[in-house]
Amino acid sequence: MQQVPPAQTSEDQRAEEGSPGIKLFASQSLRRRLVLISLMTTGLTLILANLAYISLEYYLARQDTENKLQVLGEVISERVTAALTFNDKALLESNLNTLQADASIVRGCIYGEDQTLAASYHSRTYARDDCPQYVPRVDTLQTYNFARFFTVTRDQTPIGTLYIESSRQLLLERFYQFMGFSGIIMLTAIGLALFLANKLKDVISRPMRELSKTLTQIVNDKNYGLRARKDSSDELGDLVDLFNTLLSTIDEENLSLKASEERFRKLTALSPVGIFQVDPNQKLQYVNQRWRDIHGLPSELPDLQDWFEMINPKDMVIVQEAWNRMVYDQESIALEIRLVRRDNAHTWIHLMASALHDRDGVLLGYLGAISDISELKAAQIQMETLAFYDPLTGLANRRLFKNRLDKSVKAVMRSGKSMALMFLDMDQFKRVNDTLGHDAGDILLKEVANRLNNTVRENDTVSRIGGDEFTILLTDVKSTQDVRVVAEKILKVMAKPIRVKGQDIITSVSIGITLTPDDSTDLNTLMKNADLAMYSAKEQGRNNFQFFSEEMNHSILEHLALEKEIKEAIQRNQFTLLFQPKISLFDYRTTGVETLIRWEHPDKGLITPDNFIPVAEETGQIIDIGNWVLEQACRQISSLIRENVLSSEAKVAVNLSAKQFADPLLAQRIRNVLEITRIPPRCLELEITESTLMEDVESAIKIMQEIKSTGVSIAIDDFGTGYSSLSYIKRFPIDVLKVDRSFVMDIPEDKNDMAITAAVIAMAHKLSLNVVAEGVETQEQLKYLRQNNCDEGQGYLFSRPLSLGQLHQFLVVNDKRRSNSYEI
Ligand code: C2E
Ligand code: CA
Ligand code: CA
Repeated sequence: MQQVPPAQTSEDQRAEEGSPGIKLFASQSLRRRLVLISLMTTGLTLILANLAYISLEYYLARQDTENKLQVLGEVISERVTAALTFNDKALLESNLNTLQADASIVRGCIYGEDQTLAASYHSRTYARDDCPQYVPRVDTLQTYNFARFFTVTRDQTPIGTLYIESSRQLLLERFYQFMGFSGIIMLTAIGLALFLANKLKDVISRPMRELSKTLTQIVNDKNYGLRARKDSSDELGDLVDLFNTLLSTIDEENLSLKASEERFRKLTALSPVGIFQVDPNQKLQYVNQRWRDIHGLPSELPDLQDWFEMINPKDMVIVQEAWNRMVYDQESIALEIRLVRRDNAHTWIHLMASALHDRDGVLLGYLGAISDISELKAAQIQMETLAFYDPLTGLANRRLFKNRLDKSVKAVMRSGKSMALMFLDMDQFKRVNDTLGHDAGDILLKEVANRLNNTVRENDTVSRIGGDEFTILLTDVKSTQDVRVVAEKILKVMAKPIRVKGQDIITSVSIGITLTPDDSTDLNTLMKNADLAMYSAKEQGRNNFQFFSEEMNHSILEHLALEKEIKEAIQRNQFTLLFQPKISLFDYRTTGVETLIRWEHPDKGLITPDNFIPVAEETGQIIDIGNWVLEQACRQISSLIRENVLSSEAKVAVNLSAKQFADPLLAQRIRNVLEITRIPPRCLELEITESTLMEDVESAIKIMQEIKSTGVSIAIDDFGTGYSSLSYIKRFPIDVLKVDRSFVMDIPEDKNDMAITAAVIAMAHKLSLNVVAEGVETQEQLKYLRQNNCDEGQGYLFSRPLSLGQLHQFLVVNDKRRSNSYEI
């Protein structure tokens, strides 16, 4: 097996790179290293210094000896010249004996001219024999000592030789003594160094030991509040400071870590969100209280697998997939899933989780949060219900109906089968709603919805798409006969009275039917077809059904063509105004005129309003037309008033359509017209049909009040045709009531209508309203109206609608004619 060398730390490497000495000491304790280093330094220094000193000393001593020998030799060789000349041995010896003064001189020999020994001297300590008998030759002279030869001269003639020998031994002894002495000094110095190093080691290492003790204690106790003692203010003191600063930093970080941990703990405990943590081995590691509450788990920490098992099996796959993506692809999870709690309750939760990594990217686990969104989900479902179902009847609403229609049409196109779309409109709903109140209307709608639902099959969709409008999708239709049967059934079930607030109400519906794919496969076209067919059913007298036919479509095309023509008519100014006088039934004076529009069509001639007003009304073109009429009427009539042809008491009446009436700018327009044409407001009267006013009574009252604020008066037109009740008329701020032509027409044949007319006149007078009878054509009608105190009359009996010029003439003539000329 191969042995892998342990990884080297940088410190080891540094130690290896260092000098061998340091390497040698590396294993020693710091203290010993310190002592050894100081010893070696002292020792080496001393040895080197001593060696140098000794060498110098030796060299100097030798120099000294040689100098001494030279001096002695020169002195003695001069002194002995005479003695040698005379060969006076005693004198020679006494001269040589002066050498005694120097203990280091061991021998002194004088030789004569003949090279023989003349005199000698040797120190007592010198063990060797006397001087040689002849002048020794240098090469034969084997001496350990220092020796020197001097030539003795007389008159520069050599007469002998002096030989002096100095002891080396003595020099050496002195040298050895010196060495011994310096050795002692060295040893003392080393001893002293040792002692000092030992002292020093404490100075340096004690704080270090102190430091390491503190560190050990901190490591053992994890108490970062401890501090090392500082004994000096040197580098070690700095080190202790640094160390303590480091400890403070660690301590502070620890504290802030603890604080943030505490915060986290508190937050998770208080959190309205369930928090969980999973370790890298997919083990649930931590959950907060909210997490337990959401799961209905009291205290135990479940296995991750157990937790997954609490997830509704329907959501299991998406959870598993998302979880795997988080684990393997590091993706975050965000899911809405269902849980089955321990108590079997179902909870919707929003689950979020993601992997947690440390700074180096090492996986620490997974952190997640869940929140209980059951209420939110319930609200969402409720909202969806609201969005797709009619809250009153529980039927599909317009949106869901469109959805289903779309799907059904597509299914029909795929399967090749047929389907029918029925459009139903209740015939008298508005009347019930207005007379019996909204809650009564609601009861009625609910009952109708119920009956419709019970009449069709499960697969068919009944929807309420508007106030009293319903649709039915009949799927899988084999023949029109099938549809006919259903429609008849509906008419039959509707015929049964509905009990509302103690009253039996008979209601009916008008049904329009279109078939797909026969009629169309386009949703909008189908809707239009059904609508058209329904209107046709209404026209046929209500309470019946009509299948859509192409002829109805033709009428649409005509309608479209007409719309285009009206547009041109507006641009080309093809409209003109006629005025029909209103006559007082008391004195036959002209009380005013009603403005009636005509269309001077370049090809078709004069077109009456019934042929274009409804279309203009539908397309909104009536607003432009109406504004034009209002302004023109005021302009033209004001000229008559100014010319005094028409009394300043007279009124010009202008018809207002429903769209105009609903126009929020109406009051402002009226004011503008009054200002432009400068006619006094009391001269203008607006005729609004009863049915327009009855569409939405409350807002109608508001609009009328606004109109009244301009100072003009209001007439209720076509009265008797719009089911209005007396209670409303009372609340309407109106001035005039125009009895519809249909009532006047039947005088004197229809006694019933006559009675109604008389009652209306009486009632209107009670409410202080002026009554105008429309369509007065005969003397009988005039007579009857006069008998019943009708205030004014309008009709062919008095005059047809007239152009401005004709009106001018009429006014002049009529004024002359006066009183009873209309009566026979
Ligand atoms: P309306 O307001 O009921 O107008 C009276 C209609 O009855 C006029 O028809 C008039 O010519 C007709 N008429 C008057 N006296 C008699 C009579 O003795 N016997 C018969 N059989 N009819 C008589 P016209 O002018 O065709 O107007 C029809 C409707 O068109 C008007 O009914 C009114 O609702 C509407 N209209 C007319 N001009 C305007 C207008 O400028 N703006 C708006 N929005 N609608 C208008
Ligand atoms: Ca009118
Ligand atoms: Ca009328």
